[in-house]
Amino acid sequence: MPSRSALFSQRSLILALLMLLACGFLATSLLSYFASRSAIRDGIINTELPLTSDTVYSEIQKDLIRPVLIASMMAQDTFLRDWVLAGEQDTRRITRYLGEVMGKQATFTSFFVSDHTLTYYQAKGVLKQVEPGSWRDAWYFRLRELKAPYEINVDLDMANQDSLTVFINYRVLDYQHRFIGAAGVGLSVDAVVKLIDNYQRRYQRSVFFTDADGKVLLTGSDGGPHGMRVGQNLQGNVELADVLEQHPVPGEGSHEYRDSAGHSHFLNVRQLPELGWYLMVDKRESGSLDRIRHTLYLNLAICTMITLVVLSLLHAMLRRHQASTEALATLDSLTGLPNRRSFDLLAAQALQQAQRECSPLVALLIDLDHFKALNDTHGHLAGDEVLRQFATVLQGSLRQSDILCRWGGEEFIVLLRETQGRQAIDVAQKIRRRTEQLTFSYDEKPLRLTTSIGLSSLQPGDSLHALLSRADHALYRAKQAGRNRVCSETPGTDHE
Ligand code: GH3
Ligand code: MG
Ligand code: MG
Repeated sequence: MPSRSALFSQRSLILALLMLLACGFLATSLLSYFASRSAIRDGIINTELPLTSDTVYSEIQKDLIRPVLIASMMAQDTFLRDWVLAGEQDTRRITRYLGEVMGKQATFTSFFVSDHTLTYYQAKGVLKQVEPGSWRDAWYFRLRELKAPYEINVDLDMANQDSLTVFINYRVLDYQHRFIGAAGVGLSVDAVVKLIDNYQRRYQRSVFFTDADGKVLLTGSDGGPHGMRVGQNLQGNVELADVLEQHPVPGEGSHEYRDSAGHSHFLNVRQLPELGWYLMVDKRESGSLDRIRHTLYLNLAICTMITLVVLSLLHAMLRRHQASTEALATLDSLTGLPNRRSFDLLAAQALQQAQRECSPLVALLIDLDHFKALNDTHGHLAGDEVLRQFATVLQGSLRQSDILCRWGGEEFIVLLRETQGRQAIDVAQKIRRRTEQLTFSYDEKPLRLTTSIGLSSLQPGDSLHALLSRADHALYRAKQAGRNRVCSETPGTDHE
């Protein structure tokens, strides 16, 4: 049986190892998780989002900046101004002019609104009269009072089946800098919306534009993040409250915020000075981190498995080690025979069984003759070797069911089960004879030996002690009688 302290130290060893492996694995898994997480975040903040913003910006520049230049040229055009100042004669001239401006670009519309007549001209002719009360024409009356030379307005184009259009509305001034009307171009933003959609689909990020007041001007076809729609104000969106910090638009650069569902977002903001707009690219972090989170779980699962396998292997090894230590404690280290400690247990069982079943049991006490002399002559190591060889002789002379043990020194004890006195004497004689006849050897030196054996049979009511002391007595007599003989202490069977 393992001792309590051995069990305790075994358990604490396993526990310590478990803690060590668990902490080690957890630390390396978490470290690599956080390292990849921060690399991904860095990638998003410093590369991905700015790159998207750059690309969208250059597309926008291509599509929107050129119209701004065209509108500016229209506002400075002497033909247009002269035509207005001359009393807007011959509408065909202005419509031809507007047609020229449009060129072959089907995405453009071009227009001029005269402040004198409030007539809205476009390439196809007169569209309508602008009216001060109409919401559709509010832009014109706003432009009239504007300090800046132009305004960019995202609106529905009445001339183009109300498609979403970016209008560049320039103030036209006469030679005395008096306001005489509005000229400019309109541009369908379908292409820009398609571009935004494409980006959103490919990279799971939202792209949208606002003006300087935070009004959403353009989004993908499904709207902006957090359900934002064109025309709404950023400040009306609670999700963005943290990044806005009371300003109408977040500052330029990268921002991180958490939406109401607890998801982390990255927002990149960039000003488009030519348009006075802000370009925003928003990305939800979780999508990109899902993969490494899965890797973390997989890592942890593998580590747990390894820990369990290592611990069960260790447990099995410890058990085996313990079993062999226990076995060693019951065996004699020189001969490998059971020692006196285990003999006590085995003998008690055999005695009980014999008494219960009334079966015979015989004890043989075996002592090598003049062993001291052998030691003295050939050395202790020779003595050891002879003891080992003699143990083999004993084992070879007995049955599996007999009990054999080294009693101590050069004395051995045997319990013969189910053996009557006569048979027992035969066994003892066989041992004695074999020992006498055998040439033992040490270091290739032949060594001869004899043995004396005391024998006693179990009597009803005998204790182990009584049985063995009779055998001891018989052995004493065998020695006294000149050695190399078997003596029996059981009445009536004394034998030489
Ligand atoms: P006797 O015939 O009367 O038994 O003489 P003996 O010399 O065998 O008896 P004694 O009891 O005087 O001496 C036993 C010797 O056995 C003494 C001791 O040194 C030796 N001995 C006991 N155990 C061992 C052992 O493990 N190895 C060796 N080499 N010698 C041992
Ligand atoms: Mg002795
Ligand atoms: Mg002896």
